[in-house]
Amino acid sequence: LIEREPIGVVSAIVPWNFPLLLACWKLGPALAAGNSVVLKPSEKSPLSAILLGKLAQQAGLPDGVLNVVPGYGHDAGKALALHRDVDALTFTGSTLVAKQLMIYAGESNMKRVWLEAGGKSANIVFADCPDLDQAARSAAAGIFYNQGQVCIAGTRLLVEASIEQAFLQALRKHAAAFIPGDPLDPATVMGTLIDSGHCEKVAGYIERGLSQGAALFLDGRDHPQGDHAGYLGPTILTQVDKVMSVARDEIFGPVLAVTAFDDEQQALQLANDSDYGLGAAVWTRDLARAHRMARQLKAGTVFVNNYNDGDMTVPFGGYKQSGNGRDKSLHALDKFTELKTTWISLE
Ligand code: NAD
Repeated sequence: LIEREPIGVVSAIVPWNFPLLLACWKLGPALAAGNSVVLKPSEKSPLSAILLGKLAQQAGLPDGVLNVVPGYGHDAGKALALHRDVDALTFTGSTLVAKQLMIYAGESNMKRVWLEAGGKSANIVFADCPDLDQAARSAAAGIFYNQGQVCIAGTRLLVEASIEQAFLQALRKHAAAFIPGDPLDPATVMGTLIDSGHCEKVAGYIERGLSQGAALFLDGRDHPQGDHAGYLGPTILTQVDKVMSVARDEIFGPVLAVTAFDDEQQALQLANDSDYGLGAAVWTRDLARAHRMARQLKAGTVFVNNYNDGDMTVPFGGYKQSGNGRDKSLHALDKFTELKTTWISLE
């Protein structure tokens, strides 16, 4: 017999961007596979997880099956990662912490560790893109939605040199929809970043990019919220070289790094020249090229003529230092089960 059985106690440690959604990507398959879960939300966004725990209780989930333990990462998170009664750890967050969790697992009970970590995804626009305006609208949403605090954000725009100027103009038009405003106003499409410290870090990247030779095409520091802490508008840096920190580091804010390329091979090399490998997109009307690129891009998901479309049936996760394992789809269940072989002698 070859069977899958529940792994036991699963600990889920999740970040502050999309705190409810990302918790649910873990809870659904972990509970459905028959495990108990200890969920640790981010110290910056614990409330939806606590409410979810209360709702689960009301819905009749037996005590102990879903447990919510808020707290700091270095405190509650570390304790869970080192705990010998935790059989699997499923994590979404930064690559730095992801690596630390692998160490904790090695230092304790070798619990299974499943990591969804950072990204620096390339959005590649060829001159034969079927609809330049739609690609620009999608590129703007791909980097500015949720203030750029999206792991799979299209942070590196690689654009074929012959259409660069036309594309940038279209991008500027669509970026104008993202005006920083009160996050509690339902009409707002771009709120504050998670906190003022993070906002300063992101603004620091703009400075660093400029000092390393990038050009400022759109300055997000100039916006209607003035000096109010935590606000930053859409920012576009052009003439970005692959060695600059804005091309290499995960900024996790509304800052787009634009690099022009001359041919398919160069686009591919630039896209794959990254520690990360979460997503990539290709805009072209040439289906053969789309398949060629998709095959060779080192990314967990490749979007063709869209950015970040998909649904619950498709796996989500990264190559390289973007992580291991997959959330969503039937593949998510694999992480929360052990595979057992029973060989019965019939003599
Ligand atoms: P983070 O790594 O700082 O924190 C994530 C979680 O880990 C939090 O709950 C935190 O309390 C906990 N933590 C921190 N230090 C810990 C430790 N030493 N031991 C145990 N737990 C610890 O990340 P963040 O700032 O909350 O979120 C942003 C990051 O998440 C970005 O890097 C982003 O790319 C990533 N992310 C990835 C995906 C994905 O699916 N790949 C999705 C969303 C966000």
